[in-house]
Amino acid sequence: MRQWLSPSSDDVISLISENLQQVQTRIHEACLVANRSPSDVQLLAVSKTKPIEDVARAMAAGQRHFGENYLQDAIPKVLALPDACWHFIGQIQSNKTRDIATHFDFVHGVASEKVATRLNAQRPDDKLPLRVFVQINLVDEATKSGVEPKALPALVDHIQQLSRLEFMGLMAIPPQSFGQQARRDFFIGLRQLLEQLPAHPETGPAKNLSMGMSDDLETAIACGATWVRIGSAIFGARRTPGETI
Ligand SMILES: *Cc1c(COP(=O)(O)O)cnc(C)c1O
Repeated sequence: MRQWLSPSSDDVISLISENLQQVQTRIHEACLVANRSPSDVQLLAVSKTKPIEDVARAMAAGQRHFGENYLQDAIPKVLALPDACWHFIGQIQSNKTRDIATHFDFVHGVASEKVATRLNAQRPDDKLPLRVFVQINLVDEATKSGVEPKALPALVDHIQQLSRLEFMGLMAIPPQSFGQQARRDFFIGLRQLLEQLPAHPETGPAKNLSMGMSDDLETAIACGATWVRIGSAIFGARRTPGETI
């Protein structure tokens, strides 16, 4: 990692580390308000579109989990920084499953049995099972991917039978047009879907909710998020602000 840090990058290091600290403080305060333990909420730093150097800076400030959604952008970062924990958060095309299964530790967004079957078959034996969140389409938006709530139990059951996958919980992205109250209802809907799933006979109920981004992490934490996916509040605006893919 050292090789990605040059002395002239000190200012940016401190900006990213300050941003990280602010986000950690927001998470902490949201947990206090919600009467939850801050250790129950993990921070996923979304580094999509940002250079390797910025990821190295965040690592130098103590951040371990990073999210990426463009495979071509992500793979060089994953190869350069193997000590980080890498999460794939983008749309999954079936012809990309091998790269995802090979290079990532977590996937936020499995939405079909076909993709789950392929990820399982392609997960290398020398790695831990790939940890997967199932992405839900809660508002039936044509543009958003995700499984329909009525198809969720069958998909989860399928994933739990695959030995190279570990089912973590659910993930969803509210429409950008939603205000905080609509987001709250959306996040509560996601939590209720998780709570309605039957417990796994050995590992018990799945507990994870991947929900909340830079603009709504407090609302998501109030509704039970265990992973918040934060990009711009840590790394600054992307070329297209608010872009999610
Ligand atoms: C880009 C992205 C994020 C981060 O969004 P910010 O608003 O920058 O925090 C979170 N989740 C997904 C799936 C994304 O694509």
